[in-house]
Amino acid sequence: MKKKNIIKFTDSVWDHATSDTSSHTSFIKMDKFLIMVDTGMEPSTTKEIREFAEKETGMKFKYVIITHHHGDHTFGTNVFKDCDIISTRSTKKILEQKVAGDYKDKNIILPNVTFDVEYEIKDDFKTVKIIETHGHTQGSAFVYIPQESILLTGDLLFADMFPFAGDPSVNPYLWVDAFQKMIDLKPNIVIPGHGHIGSTAELIEGKKKISEMINVIEQLYKQGVAKKEILDSELLPDFTKNAYAGWLGRTIEAFYKIVEEKEKLLEQA
Ligand SMILES: [Zn+2]
Repeated sequence: MKKKNIIKFTDSVWDHATSDTSSHTSFIKMDKFLIMVDTGMEPSTTKEIREFAEKETGMKFKYVIITHHHGDHTFGTNVFKDCDIISTRSTKKILEQKVAGDYKDKNIILPNVTFDVEYEIKDDFKTVKIIETHGHTQGSAFVYIPQESILLTGDLLFADMFPFAGDPSVNPYLWVDAFQKMIDLKPNIVIPGHGHIGSTAELIEGKKKISEMINVIEQLYKQGVAKKEILDSELLPDFTKNAYAGWLGRTIEAFYKIVEEKEKLLEQA
């Protein structure tokens, strides 16, 4: 592990991302132990980060926080067999299904500590808060350290890139609420799930993207435009032009389903 790939951002938070777009893996130094936030996609890299962290700080890992179930945040859990793995109850539930299906060969360690809504890890100096919001996935959560004004968003934020928003459990309405919750905290440093490290400005931009996307899909749905025609619509926001192939289609598909469910409920009311 080259030291330059791991950057220290506050007195107690370091971060690693393999490339500009790959998922972030961060660790937090408490007064007597370390906490990992997300575990990356490649256990061999995660192992190197773990070794670096324990050598650099002279402390051992005690907890791993999983922000959501996706493989690029959970495949590295098998490097932490000796730690408590923490996630929301919803994230554990989805992971259990995944482990029985397409994550079968990934040796994921399932969370042994779960919570709904909010969880805290404290020492004498600081609190690490984990807040469940849903949005990017059912069970998505962010991590916030008020004393250092640093927020780790998981995949609630893709900074300066098209957000993957095509998970079957995505909820764009809750996602917008999640952004507002994070913006209200006014963090100085924001470590996203993917993309560059920034501040509140990136959260405002992220919220705008999800809001614009949902508005367009609602508008097209109400005009009776078929789902498969939306991909070619002139009305899609500009930021969708550099979306990865496949991500945009899955995002439209997932948002359309949610809009359809909402509009049908409104018709029945
Ligand atoms: Zn994700």
